[in-house]
Amino acid sequence: MDIAVDLRLRTTLVCGALALAIAISSLLGTRIRKRHALFAAFAADVGLWYLSQSLFGFYQAPLWARLRMALPVLLPPLVVNLFEAVVPDEGAGTARSRAGRLTLALAIPTLALVLATYPGRSWVRGLLVGYSVAVVAWGLVELSRRGRNSRSRATRRRVSFLVMTGAFTGAFTLVDLGWVLGYASGTQPPPVGVVLSIVFLFVLAQGIRNDRLLDLYELIGRLVVATAVSFLIAGLFYVLVAVVGQFNTMWLNAIVVAIVVLVLFNPLRDWTELQVQRYVLRERRNLEASLGEARRRLAHVLEVDELSEVVMRGLDESRSVTAAALYFLSDDGSTLERRAALGTSTPARIDVASASALLDQLHKTPVVLEELARGQREGRPVPRHHVAGDAVLAAAAVLGPLSEQAVALGIRAEEGELVGVLILADERIGDAFSPEDIALFEQLASQIGAMVVSSRVYLKMKERDRLAVLGQMAAGLAHEIRNPLGAIKGAAQLLAEPGPDGSSAEGPSREFVGIILEEVERLDRVVCSVLDLARESPGAVPPIDVNGVIRRTLQVLGAEWGEADLVVVEELDESVPRVAIPPEQLRQVLINLLRNAGQAMRGRGRIGVRTRLRVRERPQLGDDGATVLAAERHVVVGVTDAGPGIPQSVLKNLFLPFFTTKERGTGLGLAISQRIVQGVGGRIEVRTREGEGTTFELVLPAAMGALGTPMPPAVEPVAPGSASSA
Ligand code: ADP
Repeated sequence: MDIAVDLRLRTTLVCGALALAIAISSLLGTRIRKRHALFAAFAADVGLWYLSQSLFGFYQAPLWARLRMALPVLLPPLVVNLFEAVVPDEGAGTARSRAGRLTLALAIPTLALVLATYPGRSWVRGLLVGYSVAVVAWGLVELSRRGRNSRSRATRRRVSFLVMTGAFTGAFTLVDLGWVLGYASGTQPPPVGVVLSIVFLFVLAQGIRNDRLLDLYELIGRLVVATAVSFLIAGLFYVLVAVVGQFNTMWLNAIVVAIVVLVLFNPLRDWTELQVQRYVLRERRNLEASLGEARRRLAHVLEVDELSEVVMRGLDESRSVTAAALYFLSDDGSTLERRAALGTSTPARIDVASASALLDQLHKTPVVLEELARGQREGRPVPRHHVAGDAVLAAAAVLGPLSEQAVALGIRAEEGELVGVLILADERIGDAFSPEDIALFEQLASQIGAMVVSSRVYLKMKERDRLAVLGQMAAGLAHEIRNPLGAIKGAAQLLAEPGPDGSSAEGPSREFVGIILEEVERLDRVVCSVLDLARESPGAVPPIDVNGVIRRTLQVLGAEWGEADLVVVEELDESVPRVAIPPEQLRQVLINLLRNAGQAMRGRGRIGVRTRLRVRERPQLGDDGATVLAAERHVVVGVTDAGPGIPQSVLKNLFLPFFTTKERGTGLGLAISQRIVQGVGGRIEVRTREGEGTTFELVLPAAMGALGTPMPPAVEPVAPGSASSA
């Protein structure tokens, strides 16, 4: 036999066996669906066709001759039906499975004709070629139509790749078919079609097993892995045959190799995959490596500026990104401020309101603006951004030159709220980032989110240290002021007292002395308050009965309010648990609130004072790591007035030190109260309605006993709901 024919027959034999193996392997999955069965039939048909070709070449028996003519008739309908099952027709329409059925209907008479007229008249052979060309071409056109109609960019890309491979394979297979049918009998085509079909089958098999089609990168990777693994196995086999050859039994060798292969297969495949990743997918690996490095560096960064720099450096080093920008939400949440950028200029500030559609989307998924823009141009929504696509694109216009080619990723804090945005683009190419790349960027964004949160905690700690120093200075200063203040006060009092001769300051002098005394007292109050503000929060304090402190405070205030026309309505729940707070501090807070209430009502009306227990269930991490619902208990002390309420402009500054709307106010009352309450782990809540009044609520954590139960109340036999006039 001539060498070319021999090579062709052997290659065809091997490829036939391979195709059958692929067919069987596709049926070994757990759930066999229609597409698995169709694929198995298709691969088996290809395999049997090749086997029949080579067996006919070796033995020239009429059975093989018939089969090698008849089997290719089934290929087109099988492949068209398979494509239909694999790539869903998103363009919808009633013509869904018409193509599949039609090709099947055409195949049956063609098959009958081929078998009946064997060894084949020339017109039958011509018909067979014509039929094959037409059906395969139709199948490919139909497949590419489905690909174009697909809403997913990934599917579109993968399908176009499949169509290309399919067209190549189809063309070379037709050359083979021509040869089988006796056209060009003199020249011998190299077995390219045969080998290509195996590649094509392999691609399809992978896609069908993974329930999605592969892209070029993945495919090259897998092909190389498969080839490398087969060469390794062949090498093993060779070594064993050479070494154990003296047993002279093929079976023993085969069994030994099979065992060795079984043991080595998985580690070998993993290792090869890694190597392939390293060399074939260098670009992806580069991105993976530089982003991985950036993430490692991020773990040691505390300042936001340094963090931004590390991220930009990582992106730059990846060489996959030509433009990038990192934005963080401003403290008041109204703008996104750019902290770092790379390449093409991006706006320094983005107004949150104008970008809200984009930001809403970023809460859920990254946004690939290029994909959206293309969808819009082609009048086709992108599934991930179905509804809001146009709005998102319109909002993205704020990004300037990158607005139609960037990928935007949300940076979220642990609780899921958006704290920033990462914008990335590679302007050199279209469709720059694959879904796998975007997944890598998402990992980076989520780490940035975590780091931002911890850097905020760090900043808070720094701020606390700064305040502590400031507090010490203020305390020193306050002491320095109080001493001369005492002297001034003493001197002024002396001036006000009648002299040894019974005379005292008269007229304007008397008035001035009065002013001095009044102002000195005011200054003294301010200084005392500053000292309060600067005071360290207490360590462990014994739990106290809140209601008792309220009653005593009301007594004290009652004396102060002597002439005012104020009525305090108490509504104290006697069963509230105790609270760990120094009683004099609680009294100070209550006095501040009650004074403010009295002043808000200009000394006339009713002030409500109420205590109650608030129990809320909150998910908590238990000892065993599982989430459990734990009851949180707070004692709530409410002070309600019927004053004019607090306007919005005042409300947002309410707790700022020195913020006051009163002519003679210090603006320190609420600041100090808040500091005290926060010092014991509580908070102050405000509810106000303009024109109707205000309620301040102290939400204080209930003290827990040794067994984790709330400390019992200290019962004092006072009827709740009693009204006391002050
Ligand atoms: P000060 O009373 O010395 O002004 P605060 O810190 O106690 O300082 O209060 C700050 C500001 O909050 C007050 O000037 C007032 O405008 C507003 N405010 C506080 N409590 C009330 C209230 N119950 N009703 C209306 N406004 C209030």
